[in-house]
Amino acid sequence: MLPLLRHCCAFGIHHPLIWRSILQTSARERKQIRSWGAQCSANYEGASVSEKDNPLQKLALPDNSLLDARILYCTSPALGHNKEAHPESNKRVPAIVEALEKLELNHKHRGSQVLEIQNFNPASLDDVARVHSRSYITGLEKAMSTASEEGLILIEGTGPTYATETTFRESLLSAGAGITLVNSVVAASKLGPNPPLGFALVRPPGHHAVPQGPMGFCVFGNIAVAARYAQHQHGLKRVMIIDFDVHHGNGTSDAFYDDPDIFFLSTHQFGSYPGTGKIDQVGQGDGEGTTLNLPLPGGAGDYAMRCAFDEIIAPSAQRFKPDIILVSAGYDAHALDPLAGLQFTTGTFHMLASNIRRLAKEICGGRCIFFLEGGYNLQSLSSSVADTFRAFLDEPMPRSAVRRSGDVFGRAD
Ligand SMILES: [Zn+2]
Repeated sequence: MLPLLRHCCAFGIHHPLIWRSILQTSARERKQIRSWGAQCSANYEGASVSEKDNPLQKLALPDNSLLDARILYCTSPALGHNKEAHPESNKRVPAIVEALEKLELNHKHRGSQVLEIQNFNPASLDDVARVHSRSYITGLEKAMSTASEEGLILIEGTGPTYATETTFRESLLSAGAGITLVNSVVAASKLGPNPPLGFALVRPPGHHAVPQGPMGFCVFGNIAVAARYAQHQHGLKRVMIIDFDVHHGNGTSDAFYDDPDIFFLSTHQFGSYPGTGKIDQVGQGDGEGTTLNLPLPGGAGDYAMRCAFDEIIAPSAQRFKPDIILVSAGYDAHALDPLAGLQFTTGTFHMLASNIRRLAKEICGGRCIFFLEGGYNLQSLSSSVADTFRAFLDEPMPRSAVRRSGDVFGRAD
């Protein structure tokens, strides 16, 4: 059955969301969540929700900064959206930020080359409603009062996806990070031929969230919302989404399965969650041919991904001729990740980022934004994002990593 139909059935005709309180949530966990929630509220208050804002006014950077920058990034760590012992934890984004500092890849060490956009706006409800049903959005918002009383709720039938009292607003903020980067990268591309690459270091991730609801740790489809925003607000008609997370991006696929202007290409481990993404699922109706799934066998490794890029991904992009490339950057295909087994190395992610950067420059004026999806081993996640930053800066991997050829932190070729 087609993914779109399958998920409609899973959520029911009226998309009922069934919220279940976690009665066994420990007092310590509830206290932690409230504490993190307070911190996040403070961050959130700095960014006002307004559906009437001129999107270009959301840009926090002057033109000269956009000209100098090689990387623009936003962070949305969602500190209040957390469940003890859950792999999609609130330690993920802080671990990446810490690695960027330690490896001298942030603004403090790179000056105008690397800029973090802070105090960006959350996505508006209209932005999110271009992808998700209004009934899901309002249902999630209403469920926040239950989450506030109970500390933590689970969303049944969605894989192990949970919500806390901050989930709704933190998810809007994560989607807003992507929108802010679309605005910034597009603005920069009008100033010169080498716009910076964007990276939305955000959570909860988004590529499993289907139009009718959350799924697989994902709440709102951050990359899907950004794709629709790029079309609607900037007139970028053709969008290519490359998803190299180890799992199939079924939510993104569902959102655009019949859309001929959005080309969704996913590499993932064959047979892994959620079981969709077969090679014969190629889109439907007008969108037939603009979905491409490349399921890779377990243990496929670095060489398989290099071949897939050179022989399929790059030629597909060159033929589609997108106006912007968005990337679902999941790092759970790394050999150290606990959730899958494609056996990628940090070198694989460096290669992918380098190749995608060159591809974007060649075919769409350099407009390219990465979105954090999976990646659950904090060490391999942060190292791999750091090497992605190096690739964005057109820098090789550090000598120490290359010397350990074949190592999970090194180059595998
Ligand atoms: Zn994943």
